[in-house]
Amino acid sequence: MAELSPVLKQATPVLAARGEGVYLYDEQDRRYLDFTAGIGVTSTGHCHPRVVEAAQRQVGTLIHGQYTTVMHRPLLQLTERLGEVLPEGLDRLFYVNSGSEAVEAAVRLARQATGRQNIVAFQGGFHGRTMGAAALTSSGTKVRAGIGPLMPGVVFTPFPEPYRQHCSQAEAVRWALAEFDHLLVTLSSPRDTAAIIVEPVLGEGGYIPAPPEFLRGLRERADQHGILLIVDEVQTGVGRTGRFWGHDHAAIRPDILITAKGLASGFPLSAIAAGEDLMATAWPGSQGGTYGGNAVAAAAAIATLDVVRDEKLVDNAAEQGARLQEGLRKVAAEHPVIGDVRGLGLMIGNEFTTPDGLPDTATATRAHQAAAERGLLLLTCGPHGNVVRMIPPLIVTAEQVDDAVARWAEAL
Ligand code: PLP
Repeated sequence: MAELSPVLKQATPVLAARGEGVYLYDEQDRRYLDFTAGIGVTSTGHCHPRVVEAAQRQVGTLIHGQYTTVMHRPLLQLTERLGEVLPEGLDRLFYVNSGSEAVEAAVRLARQATGRQNIVAFQGGFHGRTMGAAALTSSGTKVRAGIGPLMPGVVFTPFPEPYRQHCSQAEAVRWALAEFDHLLVTLSSPRDTAAIIVEPVLGEGGYIPAPPEFLRGLRERADQHGILLIVDEVQTGVGRTGRFWGHDHAAIRPDILITAKGLASGFPLSAIAAGEDLMATAWPGSQGGTYGGNAVAAAAAIATLDVVRDEKLVDNAAEQGARLQEGLRKVAAEHPVIGDVRGLGLMIGNEFTTPDGLPDTATATRAHQAAAERGLLLLTCGPHGNVVRMIPPLIVTAEQVDDAVARWAEAL
């Protein structure tokens, strides 16, 4: 345990000394299977040799050249590489450093482009902790507690959550879309609504995949009313869900896409992508930031995209994700305290519920800690912290998945 810690509360007592692939090592050289991946960031594993090499080379060449002042080759190359994987027409990119900053940039763009103020966000959604992003976040109360007043113009509506809403997926979708329609005639008329912001998998809210027909329903409504659809792929992007983008599962096209986390294997880099016409509307205002599009982060991102392609990590996420989910379901069958196992690709949640159907945060917390004691690092999420989530690097192997499932069973 660290004696002096820069954080107030640490989820595990681990003092990480080094990382290699799917493993983290502490200062006593104890090895941990890292199924947190720095909260979904180290997509290619810890210190992938190609990412290390690209970053080291770039550090010795050009560390930073603020790109609204001087452009640099790594950012041009990254933009070209992203162009190969971004949805058609989303060919203009704006770079910042974190998910929250990118979310804020997307909101600025949506408001400037439409001249409308309101943003529709989802109950249980998470978009970050900066003031604007916190205003869009409703998963749990902690993010917003005591920091108001927050950015006005945000209206919340329900997300389909079949398990918690005690209904089928089709019913949950019907109900959530009906609530959305209701909101447009009550709280936020289309004339005032700039954008909808949605996660393809509700992340911090408890790892609940958005049903494809729900995302398609939102797309239709956005088109009908001239509302922009912002898809927050901060956690779901770059292969995490077994498709390159989480929204690919629904075959929809966002108007603004947000990417961060797994994009640069641990270097701080995020971006929003939008069409040229839309992005042009942002420039009369002030967009930018000192560190956005840093050259070393960009070089690491190019290497990350190369590794994702060359090692077929999107397919691996789908394959190992299915294996992990199957293993976890078998474990859950032995432990009725786990009421639901769900997810997409390598983004899987285990929801802990008491026999009378209430969130069982205490048991989830104990299981999470017991797993760490058995060398398996996990995270919790959900509005009550009662979902234990697994989000390993995309390079995870079948053996490592089986090892994690065995440790999880033992922890339970
Ligand atoms: N959006 C989503 C969907 C996230 O999961 C997160 C972080 O977990 C954010 C935005 C905020 O990203 P950051 O912590 O990099 O600011």
